[in-house]
Amino acid sequence: MTVATLNQTSLQEKVTQLKEKKNAVILAHYYQEPEIQEVADFIGDSLELAKKAAQTSADIIVFAGVHFMAETAKILNPSKKVLLPDLKAGCSLADSCPPDAFRELKKRYPDHVVVTYINCSAEIKTLSDIVCTSSNAERIINSIPQDKPIIFAPDKNLGKYLMEKTGRKMLLWDGACIVHEAFSLDKLLELYKEHPSAQIIAHPESETHILKVANYVGSTSGMLNYVKSSEKDTFIVATEAGILHQMQKDVPWKTLIPAPAKEDNTCACSECAFMKMNTLQKLYNCLEKEDLEIILSQDLMEKALVPIERMLKLS
Ligand code: SF4
Repeated sequence: MTVATLNQTSLQEKVTQLKEKKNAVILAHYYQEPEIQEVADFIGDSLELAKKAAQTSADIIVFAGVHFMAETAKILNPSKKVLLPDLKAGCSLADSCPPDAFRELKKRYPDHVVVTYINCSAEIKTLSDIVCTSSNAERIINSIPQDKPIIFAPDKNLGKYLMEKTGRKMLLWDGACIVHEAFSLDKLLELYKEHPSAQIIAHPESETHILKVANYVGSTSGMLNYVKSSEKDTFIVATEAGILHQMQKDVPWKTLIPAPAKEDNTCACSECAFMKMNTLQKLYNCLEKEDLEIILSQDLMEKALVPIERMLKLS
């Protein structure tokens, strides 16, 4: 064992001890670094983690994810102390939908039902009729009466995909995730030529031209299930590269290749810099000091809870 992995192991042990002492639970998104996923009590996508946050009896929730996810945990279980290892871990998609501009849009279309993807701020959730995740978005859209016009925000790529799947025309907010928009179609097709028996699987936050060549499009947990149940043994995976850790653990005998990004970077794949702001050390520090806490006003939490609960009832 190298010094680095030895240090990491002892830090993981310290996190586990502290977590037990403080009756804390660690919820980690699939896009977190492997060493964080290894100490987590639950690993999941947005919907799974929101449900875990709502149900936990722990006193402290350490949310290893990004800010809007930790906010959702706090809204769902307001009596808990919710900590985020780095409070600056934001999200390009959530940032692409500022509340004032969104309020203006709503004013122009007062008869529209507002559906928002969970990847938005708590304030945007207060302006929503119902929230959705990529796991349940289709069902949520289909639950809205056909004669009701819809505003969908903030992800235009997911919105376009849903319009095609449901046949519903929607007014789309012009937001996107920088990670899922980073995939290069040319490089993806080149890679596919090298692995012609591979299945291309993609998250619906990806651009339409990527989704069109995919054999499977689905949420993070949907992609995991697809790879597990498929008879194929090679997959090109178009979503944040952190998913590969859990996926490979589920199917160690299969070949998983991250889809290439437009810009060359060290791993030639797509990683979310916001997600990666959390480190094992920061996670330990925040649990020890309990200082990086998500604080939201009572009024904001009550208003944001309404569209989240509507979603959970339909999930
Ligand atoms: S991967 Fe995209 S949507 Fe997810 S947290 Fe990062 S920037 Fe936001």
